[in-house]
Amino acid sequence: MHYQGTIYRPPSEANSILLQVTTGCSHNKCTFCGMYKGQRFTIKPEERVLADIEYAATHFAHARRLFLCDGDALTLGTDRLLTILRAIQAKLPKVTRVGIYANSKSLRSKSVEELQLLSRHGLGICYIGLESGDDVTLNRINKGADGKQIITAATKTKEAGIPVSITVLLGVAGPERSTIHATETGRVLSAIDPEFVGALSLMLEPGTVLYDEYQAGHFAMPEPFAILQELRTMIAATNLSNGLFHANHASNYLPIKAKLPEEKDSTLGLLDRALSGTMALKPEYLRAL
Ligand code: SF4
Repeated sequence: MHYQGTIYRPPSEANSILLQVTTGCSHNKCTFCGMYKGQRFTIKPEERVLADIEYAATHFAHARRLFLCDGDALTLGTDRLLTILRAIQAKLPKVTRVGIYANSKSLRSKSVEELQLLSRHGLGICYIGLESGDDVTLNRINKGADGKQIITAATKTKEAGIPVSITVLLGVAGPERSTIHATETGRVLSAIDPEFVGALSLMLEPGTVLYDEYQAGHFAMPEPFAILQELRTMIAATNLSNGLFHANHASNYLPIKAKLPEEKDSTLGLLDRALSGTMALKPEYLRAL
């Protein structure tokens, strides 16, 4: 496979074929994110992508999942995406789900009909970074969209029959907006009603704007127990009809995997025990992105 730069994928795509169709991120301005710093957003030549599909068909013929990288591959035009999805269906018939990162801008550029067409050709999940449902925080971190726009984008995706996985970022609002961040994120998650939620804990990365703000004393990191309280408040404010709320990423202090609504109360009870100090949190040196 031909890869350029560092490849990122959601934790749940660990066993997927990683097919790079773009490089970098078309937005690349979120203040906390160092994933694609210094990397230009480009669209990879179609013949290169098709050659990678041929390679995957020879070497990973039994894989059931495939993930289209990089940062915001849904920026690709619908025709180009359909060409790629058709080639995957033809050459990798065992692949039952193709995943992709999407943001509100790229989703705005696609109609429900276009998304339905992509769904019929195998697009089976969109990973959308919400980070926070609090518009003040979204503006501060330069997300490029507010909560309403993200709700519209994610709802349209679901309407087209594509499940969504929403990423939220604990700690990103700092200590002073932690409670608002948690309750507003719960409100936006409830409005979207996604199939999956993944909560990560902020880790400051050197080279990012947020890291510089932290160094200059303009941003403070919440303490581990404050992050845990934030997670508790967020889950309490989140009402899903049938969703999985994961906070079991390596960056988190306490692994949580809850089916909502069924396991909401037991999960809040677990968090209460951790907050009362009767359960050990993951030590700082074991946390990682
Ligand atoms: S968080 Fe996502 S949208 Fe924001 S810069 Fe990083 S890759 Fe791009």
